Amino acid sequence: MKADGLINQVFLYPRPWILTGAGISTESGIPDFRSSGGMWEKVDPIENFSTWALHNNPQGFFTHGIPMFEQVLAAKPNIAHEIIGELQAKRFVGPVITQNIDSLHQKGGASWIYEVHGHIRTATCMNCRKETVSMEKLVALVRGGEMPPKCDTCGGILKPDVILFGDSMPNDFQDAIRQIRYHETTDNMIIVIGSSLTVSPINTFPFEFEKLAIINNSATALDNNAEFIITGSAGEIMGQIKAKLVELNGGQELTALPAGFVPGRIAAIITDIWAVYTSKNKNNGDMVSKIMADITLAEKLLKNYPEIDKRPLIEKHIIDYCLTLIEKVKTELLADSPSLKSLNGYLPRTLDDIINSHYEGLIGYMRQYNSLSEIIKELVLQLVGLIGLYNYMGSLGVQAFDYNLTGEILDKLGEVIKRYNFVIDIEKALKDF
Ligand code: NAD
Repeated sequence: MKADGLINQVFLYPRPWILTGAGISTESGIPDFRSSGGMWEKVDPIENFSTWALHNNPQGFFTHGIPMFEQVLAAKPNIAHEIIGELQAKRFVGPVITQNIDSLHQKGGASWIYEVHGHIRTATCMNCRKETVSMEKLVALVRGGEMPPKCDTCGGILKPDVILFGDSMPNDFQDAIRQIRYHETTDNMIIVIGSSLTVSPINTFPFEFEKLAIINNSATALDNNAEFIITGSAGEIMGQIKAKLVELNGGQELTALPAGFVPGRIAAIITDIWAVYTSKNKNNGDMVSKIMADITLAEKLLKNYPEIDKRPLIEKHIIDYCLTLIEKVKTELLADSPSLKSLNGYLPRTLDDIINSHYEGLIGYMRQYNSLSEIIKELVLQLVGLIGLYNYMGSLGVQAFDYNLTGEILDKLGEVIKRYNFVIDIEKALKDF
């Protein structure tokens, strides 16, 4: 299957970011911009869809815009949106950056989304910036003869909260950049789905990641930079990915991966270090023994994953896959240097870094929760995953995956949350626990 190689990479680079473009929504009936028969063959974007057009030719803007807005507002998510929503909720993929304005990722169940070109759920007054109306209201105003539609408070023109040609980027764009830097995504992968990658500055995002995968039905501007290119429709390929994951889970529907589940990062570190050694540092005895120490620790961590036999099959599959990669490095290393002694490796320190950055990053998932109790519950789940990770090292005697959410623990966590204002130092949090 086309997607097999990509799935293994998703296991190695847990929670890859997703970047989507108009192509993911064509199967929901919304035309893209650049395919033949696409929208720009019929409408001139600068003449009709720029801020200039809105000021100088509002009639043209709304005459062309309203039918398009209505079509987009009525669209339903397709299987690709739905699978991304499910995989994000279950922690197989991370945040979604979308260039689309159609809200179909939200409708498809995703909750951690950066809408870098805005959206058309609402419109805001271009003059006072205070009045915001729903898009349904704006359409009703125009259909009722108000051209251009005006703000009740100051009489300024109402503009959909979308980026037009000539606009500056919205807050979500800056937020996405901040999160990308914060998550140290140079260790991670981004999967682009349904974008020609010709629109700047969005098409610079992939360069912030270690690996780029592209799912598209035609060539893109960054094909030369991608490690994986899967050619096909977004719906078909995402359907294959989901089917394969279910197959690896023994035919059972997927459940959420534990929050601190990062075996792939451990295996990737080992294979990366080994790649550096074999390419540059051959005959460096000190490095060889460090790698051996890392392998020993990595194997110990993965082989002693708590209660793995009670966990969904896919978690065992991921661990086994990672162990196979580590075993391969070990075999090559032993063939190279048969008389090794273990010294202190790189992994413990690196693992600490991963746990910290991973933990902080996961806080992003909490954007979807409104109440403190929901946030606390999610936080407990995340800590449980991380405690599981620490647990392997024998430093804490806490039972992973089976933590009892008693009132006392919830209260304690509430205090911790308040004290650290969400930026929680994991060790301090664990001590307080
Ligand atoms: P684009 O039109 O430049 O590229 C879309 C790409 O998707 C093309 O390469 C096309 O071959 C491919 N594609 C089309 N259908 C596909 C499918 N079913 N499966 C896989 N690939 C498919 O779009 P872009 O890169 O997103 O840039 C266009 C700009 O247009 C963006 O800024 C976006 O804001 C805006 N736009 C948004 C929507 C929307 O919200 N749905 C629709 C049109 C345009």
